[in-house]
Amino acid sequence: SKARGRNGFFLFTEEMNERISQRMQLENDLRRALKEREFTVYFQPKVDLDTGRVSGLEALVRWVKPDGTVVSPGDFIPLAEETGLIVPLGEFVLDASCKAMQVLEGVGCSALTVAVNLSPIQFGQDDLVERVMANLERGGLPASRLELEITESTLMTDVHSSVAKLDQLVEHGISVSIDDFGTGYSSLYYLKTFPISALKIDSSFVRDITEDENDAKIVETVVLMARTMGIDVVAEGVETREQLDLLASFGCATVQGFYYSKPIPLEDVVRFLLGNEGI
Ligand code: C2E
Ligand code: CA
Ligand code: CA
Ligand code: CA
Repeated sequence: SKARGRNGFFLFTEEMNERISQRMQLENDLRRALKEREFTVYFQPKVDLDTGRVSGLEALVRWVKPDGTVVSPGDFIPLAEETGLIVPLGEFVLDASCKAMQVLEGVGCSALTVAVNLSPIQFGQDDLVERVMANLERGGLPASRLELEITESTLMTDVHSSVAKLDQLVEHGISVSIDDFGTGYSSLYYLKTFPISALKIDSSFVRDITEDENDAKIVETVVLMARTMGIDVVAEGVETREQLDLLASFGCATVQGFYYSKPIPLEDVVRFLLGNEGI
């Protein structure tokens, strides 16, 4: 085309330069944001369907820019992983989660667990277990109140070493759940091999559960299978009463989603919990 001019290659390079400099800009912003403490942690309740009570919280990181804009993790976690910044960021999230649990203890909620997402980069560290334990000690949180959420694909990268790490975590009293279950190469065999306490059914299966017979069957089967194996099931992305009722009829024990609450700042969590009888 005319816009491309004689030298199409030139424009292509320009575009690449543009992309690279945007990336460098974002990387600089990320470093600065870590130093300036622009990150914060929101929490989303997990609700026990039998009791209607909040049984735990999932910690979800947010980047709050100086102008108040809230940036979602999807927009910066990939680069944080590529640059290794996910390690200090992950440590920040764990610290913030420990602090939050202490605040909640102060208002009488001492039975909740907090779930923290673990990036494949973090999970791949040889000293992962020591790091997490040091973090908990610093933050004064008993290991039994921490849950780590790890995706199937992270665990499948090196099954042997994953099992060894999970065994160590569990030995220390930390529980592990498989995040985004159903989106990777799940295998029943490996499910049996990994010492996990819960499966989190990915929201993509929950979304159409009331209309899509196949999705409903998959979820029902996963719940049944997990129960047989003594593993808890958490359904993610529950937005409607109809989804909730169907999940309950399948025997799903725990749900998480906008139906109950979006991820919210700690102050709002306190308010939410005080309005919930689960404390
Ligand atoms: P995830 O671990 O699967 O977290 C669930 C995501 O679904 C969250 O998005 C949450 O806000 C969203 N969600 C929850 N309920 C509903 C619902 O009912 N409807 C809809 N449409 N969405 C719902 P968020 O907070 O944007 O996080 C996205 C992903 O970023 C997370 O997916 C996780 O993989 C990653 N992430 C977030 N925080 C951290 C962190 O501290 N460390 C690491 N390594 N990853 C994180
Ligand atoms: Ca998660
Ligand atoms: Ca998930
Ligand atoms: Ca996800």
